[in-house]
Amino acid sequence: AQDLLIKTEKLSIAGELAAGIAHEIRNPITSVKGFLQLLHSDHFEEKKKYYDIIKSEIDRIELILTELLMLSKPQVTHFETKDILIVIKDVITLLDAQAHLNNVQINTQFDSNEILVRCEENQFKQVCINMIKNAIESMPSGGELLIKAQSNMKDEIVISFIDQGIGISKSILSKLGQPFYTTKEKGTGLGFMVSKKIIENHNGSIVISSEEHKGTIIDVYLPIPK
Ligand code: ADP
Ligand code: MG
Repeated sequence: AQDLLIKTEKLSIAGELAAGIAHEIRNPITSVKGFLQLLHSDHFEEKKKYYDIIKSEIDRIELILTELLMLSKPQVTHFETKDILIVIKDVITLLDAQAHLNNVQINTQFDSNEILVRCEENQFKQVCINMIKNAIESMPSGGELLIKAQSNMKDEIVISFIDQGIGISKSILSKLGQPFYTTKEKGTGLGFMVSKKIIENHNGSIVISSEEHKGTIIDVYLPIPK
């Protein structure tokens, strides 16, 4: 029990640090981006190459900070009773173009017309975005992503993200959730950790089942509101 307490404390210090760093760095980066756009409007060919590199590096920093900021958000903001089926549909609309580009078909299977959950909408959205993006990225030659939502016998809501992707090996699985652990060239390795943290803040949990070269199922459990 002693160990656990120390770990929890360390985590919250890390969270505070992340908030500080992210806030301080975000503004100058936005400004640098603006000036780069101006630079780009000059017609010098050699500048273009450097511009592209700088731009993509800054995009990357921005993405990392955006994900870190999610982690540092106060834990009890705007919890509302929401129909998560609407939230899931919104996120699918948002990512459908990206799915189509990658030959991924997103299908849904919902057990009822609405499923109410106490949640912080933006954070829950972020979890759905992370899970759907990971699923799309796991299917480089396309496939189906099935999203199921239902309530189970134990008075929980289960949202399942079922892909037909490359799957997750045991060694990757053991590192999943560690900050910055990624197997992707342009990955941040933050999406899963942030999602797990968000769901835990909602008194829920995430369970992964995966078979290499077959696919992955991510089950997100949330409590049914009383
Ligand atoms: P990122 O997507 O930036 O790499 P994440 O934290 O979202 O970071 O995921 C970490 C790693 O977990 C990924 O690099 C990938 O190896 C693995 N992963 C997550 N979701 C899936 C999935 N649905 N299928 C296969 N691998 C996955
Ligand atoms: Mg990801």
